[in-house]
This record gives sequence, structure tokens and C-alpha cells, in this order.
Amino acid sequence: MSTNPYEMALAQYERAAKQLSLTQGIDALLRVPERELTVNFPVRMDDGSTRIFTGYRIQHSTARGPGKGGIRYHPDVTLDEVRALAMWMTWKCAVMNLPYGGAKGGVICDPKRLSLRELEHLTRRYATEISLLISPEGDIPAPDVNTTPQIMAWIMDTYSRHRGHRVPAVVTGKPVAVGGSLGRGEATGRGVMLATREALGRLDHPLAGARVAVQGFGNVGSVSAMLLHDAGARIVAVSDSRGGTLNARGLDPGALVRHKRESGRLADYPGGEPIDNAALLAADCDVLIPAALEQQITATNAERVRARLVVEGANGPTTPEADAILAARDILVVPDILANAGGVVVSYFEWVQDLQAFFWTEEEINQRLERLMVRAFEEVTAAAHDRGTDLRAAALIRAIERVAEAIALLGIYP
Ligand code: NAD
Repeated sequence: MSTNPYEMALAQYERAAKQLSLTQGIDALLRVPERELTVNFPVRMDDGSTRIFTGYRIQHSTARGPGKGGIRYHPDVTLDEVRALAMWMTWKCAVMNLPYGGAKGGVICDPKRLSLRELEHLTRRYATEISLLISPEGDIPAPDVNTTPQIMAWIMDTYSRHRGHRVPAVVTGKPVAVGGSLGRGEATGRGVMLATREALGRLDHPLAGARVAVQGFGNVGSVSAMLLHDAGARIVAVSDSRGGTLNARGLDPGALVRHKRESGRLADYPGGEPIDNAALLAADCDVLIPAALEQQITATNAERVRARLVVEGANGPTTPEADAILAARDILVVPDILANAGGVVVSYFEWVQDLQAFFWTEEEINQRLERLMVRAFEEVTAAAHDRGTDLRAAALIRAIERVAEAIALLGIYP
């Protein structure tokens, strides 16, 4: 059992690709990233010292369009993690039929230990280093773990300074005031809510009253919890990297967001009892939403999952071994490349709006997002039915087919 995320992404790919008759050349190409950039760069710290940081930007495939994918700031970022995340972006954009390839970036750092000034300097220097790859036509970053709309604004501004004019379409997930899209901040969580609604519908289980546990209470987890709560579901447990809280009668996600902002700790929320992350994953609930990091549901704890439905807000939260255990236990898994695609869908809308300098209303954005999510969900469930596979294999098969078709049409240059 490997804990290397790239090996995990390859294992998922192989399981799906087995069902397709890809040529040897296309199969070999899809296994490796097209481009990998490693940058080691200095940042002047507040105490006057200089620290060297390491970052990456990787494009897994640009066969269907420019690279697209977030930037992660985390102490545990590795080259293989970014490779895996870039590959998953290729599949995600293809399954949603967006005109994008897949890319991802990361910087090894702990943003909680950086001042705002240090964070800005690190971001602007990293943006300069990766400006070899990023552009509105070539590769468009977005937020991921520990990166925010403010960080996207700095990246856009840095890139623009070098060009001599504003280039909003170089990055998505920006604040609305500098060319961001309405609805982008909520988009991933809104997509998770829609995927949960659709999946519960397939299980003949009403969304109203469904008991939901959410691991990770950042952008994706907190918005998913709030929108599901608004749609009538009961949030019974939430957690973040420092622990969590449980209340079988239901938690108020809005109050939890305020509590986390004020005290920093979900575990001491007065309206629930403290739990750790192992307990969260084993919580008595109907829907489990992992929305933190990869490889959380594993061969070790998959037997303890009590939900009927797992909706992957995070990228890569379930290992292939855990997938097999959940499938044997008849637990439905909505895979990451479908469940959390709302973010990249509205990123695509943001990029289109920036390129046209013509902005849409929030209502238009949410309606278009819902149409795309529901259509993709229907396509993937139909493919799963036709091929007799689970939803992950079906989503991957559809995605790989689309990318392989583009590669075949483009041919091999020279
Ligand atoms: P974020 O930084 O806003 O939040 C991450 C959350 O996870 C935080 O609450 C953190 O405390 C928590 N966390 C970290 N380690 C944990 C652990 N071991 N146990 C429990 N909680 C832990 O990041 P985000 O943007 O919400 O991203 C979360 C996941 O969703 C990632 O896998 C990311 O790749 C994926 N994702 C994000 C987007 C997006 O638009 N932001 C889109 C698609 C997928």
C-alpha cells in the first residue's frame, strides 16, 4: 500500500484505462506530466534574514486547452503530490468538458507561520518564477489549500506588472473587485452540494434531514456545510486540522464559521462535543464529505465509515484500497473529479468573463454551474450503468476518452 499520491493517481488511471483500447503511445503519454518546473527562490523575512523556498508548477496535459489548476501552500507539498493533483485536474476538466488541460502548483511553506508581508513577498516571487509557464493562453492558476483570493490578486498584479498592463485572465479565484467572478468563492462547495443532492436522489434518500459529516472546514468544507444546511440537511459533525465537533441533533455551520474565526478551534465549540478526525470519519451519518487533504479514507479506516454516501470535496481523499472496501460495503462514492468540479467550472466562467471584459450576474453563474454539474452527473452515472463500473471508473473513462481523442487528433509533432 503506497502513500505516494502520484502512484495512487496512476493506479486509478490504470484501473480505468484497462477498459479502453488506448494506443501504447497515448497510454504512455497520459502517465507522465508534459512539463514540470521546480523553482528555488529567496524571500526576505521580517527579521532581515533570507529564506529559500521551493515551489512547483506542473502541467500534466494541455491536449484539450491551457493548463488549469490551483496553487497549494503547505509544509507537506511534494513533487509527486503536485504531479497527482495536476493529473486529476486533466481528468476533472475533461469530465466537465471544459476546454482546459490539467495543471497544479505548490510551494513548500507553512503560511500560518508567515506574516502577511512575508506571504505577499513569497507569492510575488513565486509568481515571477512560474511566469515562464503561466498565462491566460497557457496555464491559469487558482486557489487551493491555504491560498486565497488575496493571493490570486497578488499573482495577477505581479504578472501584470511584468507585462505593463492588467491581465486579469492569468488567474481565477480573484476578488470580484479586480476581475473575479461572482459565485467563485462558493463554487466548489455549491458543486459539492449539487453532487450530494443528485447522488441522494439516486439512492432515493431525501436531502432534507440527511445527516452530513464534513472533514476539513476551509473553503470547500465550510461552504458545502452551509449550503447543505440551507438545503435542509443536518450537519452532525465537522473537523479541521486541529480537531472537530459533533452534535447528532445538528450543528449550525454559520455559527461554526464565526466560532472558528474568533477562537480558532472547532473542538471547543459550545454547541457540540469535541471529536478527533478518526471519529469524524467514523461518525454516524448518511453522507460523509472529506474536504481536507488526500488519502484520508484508507484500508485502515474504510471499514469504519458509516455513511451510505461519500462525496469527495477534497482531491484524492480515498485510496484505491479504500475504494474497494467501500464498494464491497455498498457505499456510493461520488469521485473528486466530479464532486468538487464546481470550482473549476466557475473558474472557467471567470476566465471567459475576463477575456471578454463582460461580467455575468450571480444568478446566471449559479444556473450555468447547476446545469453543468447535473449534466456531468447524469453522463457519469449513465456510463457507470452501461459499463457496470463504479462512478470513479466511469468518470475517469469518460475523461480519458476525451483527452485521448484530442491527443490522437493533434498527432505527434514533428
Ligand atoms: P482550505 O485551505 O480552505 O481548507 C482546508 C481545510 O482542511 C482546513 O480547514 C484545514 O484545517 C483542514 N485540514 C487540513 N488537514 C486536515 C486533517 N488532517 N484533518 C482534517 N482537516 C484538515 O482548502 P480548500 O480550498 O477548502 O481545499 C480543500 C480540499 O478541496 C483540497 O483537497 C483541495 O485540493 C480541494 N479542492 C479545492 C477547490 C477550491 O476551489 N478551493 C476546488 C476543488 C478541490
